[in-house]
Order: sequence, then C-alpha cells, then structure tokens
Amino acid sequence: MSLETTQIPYQRDGDDVVGIGSYRVLETFDGRADEDVREDIREKTEVALKDYPELAGKTVTIGRIDPDEDANAQAFFYNLLTAYHTDRFASLQTVYHELAHLAIFVQHEQGEDVPLSSEEYCSIVAVSRMPVRYLEHDNREDISYLGTPTVPKAEWPEICQRALEYREENGRNSHYIQRCKEWLEVDA
Ligand SMILES: [Zn+2]
Repeated sequence: MSLETTQIPYQRDGDDVVGIGSYRVLETFDGRADEDVREDIREKTEVALKDYPELAGKTVTIGRIDPDEDANAQAFFYNLLTAYHTDRFASLQTVYHELAHLAIFVQHEQGEDVPLSSEEYCSIVAVSRMPVRYLEHDNREDISYLGTPTVPKAEWPEICQRALEYREENGRNSHYIQRCKEWLEVDA
C-alpha cells in the first residue's frame, strides 16, 4: 500500500492548535482514479482542512467509495476516513461536508454537545466554514440535505453560522435546522 502522506506543519497558539491537519490517500483510490481526479481530491482536501482546526495534528485518510453507492461521498468518522468516487470530481462543498463529519466526531470525543449522525447539522457546519468565493466557484447550487436556497451564495455561510448560534442559545431541540432552511429560503 502506498501511503502518500502530506505533512503540513502546524503551529500552536497558546494551548490551542490552530494549524491544519494532514491527509493521506489510499492506493485503493489512487489505483483507480485518473491523474486529474487524484490531484483534484488532494487540492480540495488541502483547501478545506484549513477551515477545520479540530483536525489539526490529525491525519485524514482518503479512500474509495463503493462504486455502486448512491451517495457522492462517505465519511467513516471513527477512522477519520473519507471516501470518494474515483470516476468523477467531488464538489468542494462535498469535501467540506465529509470533513465536517470528522470534525464533529472530534468535538464529540472532546465531550461537546454535537449531533454525531445529523446530516443536516453536518451540512450547516460545512457551509458555515466555507469562504464565499469557494461557494461561488463550486458547481453546486444546493446544500446537501438542506435543499436549494433562494438567497445568494454570499449569504449562505453567515446564515449557517447564525443557525449554529441559534442552536447554541436555544438548545438542540430548537428547530434550528428548520430556521436555517427558512433563512436560506430553501425551495420546498
Ligand atoms: Zn454526510
């Protein structure tokens, strides 16, 4: 098995690790994917890792998803493993979403009150971290598990951040997902 590991040095600011995680790509992925797909998943993972300080000092593994799987990608968070199709490009939002699963798992392991298996929560976290220019370059017009917003992409991260604050203030049963969809003006 070839373990191409990209180590990205991280720095420490006080007690908090503020640097970025590293990743490795399994031969099961590289052996099947064309060069442009291999490069694309590396670039997108590097870009997105910068917005997940929870993963600083950790190594994320990129592997191959079951080709018959309907999902765009999968995260196996207990092993910090993300899996993608080898015959197509993953969207940047998808990469942010899969890494959000891993970051939420790390937060959960640290005792934080975060829902481990909520796809909607995961998407809200993912989009709240995405720079607007990335969203605007991305080919996706929808947010996975939330729907297609009517408001411009420039407002998506702020709205998702607001939904997370709403949950923080009003609790996990506060219908923050519904609020978020309302604020995004998701098509019913
Ligand atoms: Zn997911």
